[in-house]
Order: sequence, then C-alpha cells, then structure tokens
Amino acid sequence: MASICVCARFRPLNSREDGEAICITRSDSQSFSIKDEKDEQYMFSFDKVFYEDSEQADVYEFLARPIVRDAVNSINGTIITYGQTGAGKTFTMEGANILEADNLKKGLLPRVVDELFDAIIFCGEATAYKIKLSMVEIYMEKVRDLFDLSKDNIQIKEHKSHGIVLSGVTEIPILDGEEALKVLCGGIANRAVGETQMNAGSSRSHCIYMFTIQKEVTNEKRVSSGKVVLVDLAGSEKVEKTGAEGKVLEEAKTINKSLSALGNVISALTSSPHAKSLHIPFRDSKLTRLLQDALGGSSQTALLCCCSPSLSNSSESVSTLRFGARAKHIKASSSRVMSSNSKEDIDRKQQEISALNDVKQQ
Ligand code: ADP
Ligand code: MG
Repeated sequence: MASICVCARFRPLNSREDGEAICITRSDSQSFSIKDEKDEQYMFSFDKVFYEDSEQADVYEFLARPIVRDAVNSINGTIITYGQTGAGKTFTMEGANILEADNLKKGLLPRVVDELFDAIIFCGEATAYKIKLSMVEIYMEKVRDLFDLSKDNIQIKEHKSHGIVLSGVTEIPILDGEEALKVLCGGIANRAVGETQMNAGSSRSHCIYMFTIQKEVTNEKRVSSGKVVLVDLAGSEKVEKTGAEGKVLEEAKTINKSLSALGNVISALTSSPHAKSLHIPFRDSKLTRLLQDALGGSSQTALLCCCSPSLSNSSESVSTLRFGARAKHIKASSSRVMSSNSKEDIDRKQQEISALNDVKQQ
C-alpha cells in the first residue's frame, strides 16, 4: 500500500501582485508556515514543497517521472493539479505553451511524452508498445471529447474487469513524441473553441489527458496496459469571491460541487483505515466517478496544490493547502493490470466494452 503523493507549489508573484508581501516562511523542502491577512499562522508539511524558484524539471522528476515509469510497466497513475485560478495549474501541466522548447518553461505533459517514447525505444525487440491518447473536459457536469466536439456528453461506465470506462471516447494512436504534441495541441485548441462558444474561461472546466500504454511481450503472448492520467482541475476559488451571477454563478457552483465531492471522497477514504468497507461517494460527481480508479486504489496518485505566495491570496492558498493536507492521508494501493489473454482477446474485449450491456451507468 502506497500513500498518495501530495506536494505544494508556489508560483512567483505576478505583475498584479508586484511589491506585495509574501505570506510564506520556508522551513525546509517539505514544510513551511503561511500567514493570512488576519495574521493567523498555519503550518503545513507535504511530501515536497516547490517554492517560487523551483523549476518545471524538478516538479516532473519528483511528481511525474515515477508514475510514468510505472505506467510503462502497466501500473496506472494519475497526476492532479488543484488550486485557485491563476495559481499555476496549467503552467505546470502544459508549460507556457505545449510546444514550448525552452526547458525552463516546458510543462509536465511534453515531459511525459518524451519519457514514454524514450522508454519504448529502449525496451528491446521482444516487447511491442502501443500508445493511445484521449482528452476530455468536464464542463457543467458533462464530459466533452476534446478530439471530437460532437461527442459532448460522454457517459462514464463501470466494467467488472476494466474498471471505469468512457463510453465511445476518441482514442488517438500515437506513433512518436512529435505527433503526440500535435494531437495535444488540437485538443487544447478545441478547449479554446468551446470556451468562446460557452463564454467560459478554460479554468471553468476540468481537463483530463489520458495516455494508455499497451504492452505486448511477444514470446509470452501476454498483453497488459497502463495508464497515465493528468488532471488540470477547474479553479477552486470560492463562489462568493468571484462576484459571479447568472451562468457564471452556475458554473462556479457546479465546480465547487464537484471539487467538494472530490474532498468528500478523499475524506471518506481517509476517515478509516478500513476505508474499503465504507461507502465512498464516487457517484456524487462526474469528476469523482472518472477518478474512481485513481483514488480508490488501483492506481498511484500525485496531487499538486498550486498556490500564489502573495498575502492577498493567502486565504485561498490556505484552503488549497488544507485540501492537500486532507488528501495526504489517502492510502492507495497500486496494482499491476496483467492479463494472460492473447492480443486478439484483448482487442475483442476492448471492442465489447463500448457495447456492454452489463454496465452500471452513472
Ligand atoms: P491556472 O491554470 O492555475 O489558472 P496558470 O497556470 O494559467 O494558472 O498561471 C497563471 C499565470 O501565471 C500564467 O501566465 C502563467 O504563465 C504564470 N505562472 C504560473 N506558474 C508559474 C511559474 N511557476 N513560473 C512562472 N510563471 C508562472
Ligand atoms: Mg488553467
């Protein structure tokens, strides 16, 4: 049983915060204290804290690399960024730009792609890999396929042996790193199209990137698969602070509901060492339903709490960090999804999934 890895990241002050007081006092690479505007002091400890001067490569090495390496060996992994809008979630995931060449700015996604294809190149002839990529966003409790905007209400289903499945989601086979980045670019651009149509900022939806790595050991006739899921959550800021009304207020309420569902699932998982016997409310939101395998025990999970270091944002930062502290107690077991079936069996089973009748539907 491995615990969830929970880290915090503080971005540098931005131009709007220029000259503002910094509310963090560093203790070491795992602990710090934070002071809010009422002069209350809070202490936090995480697996690792990335301060304002941390680099994208450091975050990748600590948080993502172990997960990506395990996914190549058929162990599922999930990386989640949480925090208020503007805290650095998308910068961490995508970088300043997904095609960013500058190593200082390159985000987790292109690094995941590099590592996956490096691992495959060096795997030897006896092993064949196939990588597929899906990209969805959850907006107003609907799952939209970012590779096919006509699929704007994808159903989340649960299959006895395959776990959580997104019914009919587009899965694009990827042959190399360059192609992967182009495909990711297309998905991100579709997110932007949706934004203007819905008059929503990208931080109003949860964005989920899913890499499936299928591994076939030729002379063993065995196929197994691992997943790397990256989740760039919608902004966690409080509704009342946004001054929102109408549609924007509805969006904010839906986001808060799904993030608090995530909090409740985490709470249920941490409230008892025998959490398996408790009711875990995964079905309370699309987000928790989709992350059920990730949080419920069949996957390794890393949560990055993204924060501004400024005093004016300190109360939001404290609530982000509290969320992370609560998550720290989750126990997640990682399991290797192995199958002794033939490749044909696996392919047939995967086709069956979309047409399943014996599924539970949310
Ligand atoms: P979020 O996705 O949490 O809403 P962003 O990732 O879009 O926030 O970050 C907001 C702004 O701050 C962006 O302009 C981004 O480039 C910048 N930024 C965020 N984190 C960092 C960082 N660690 N270093 C430099 N700039 C950052
Ligand atoms: Mg963002």
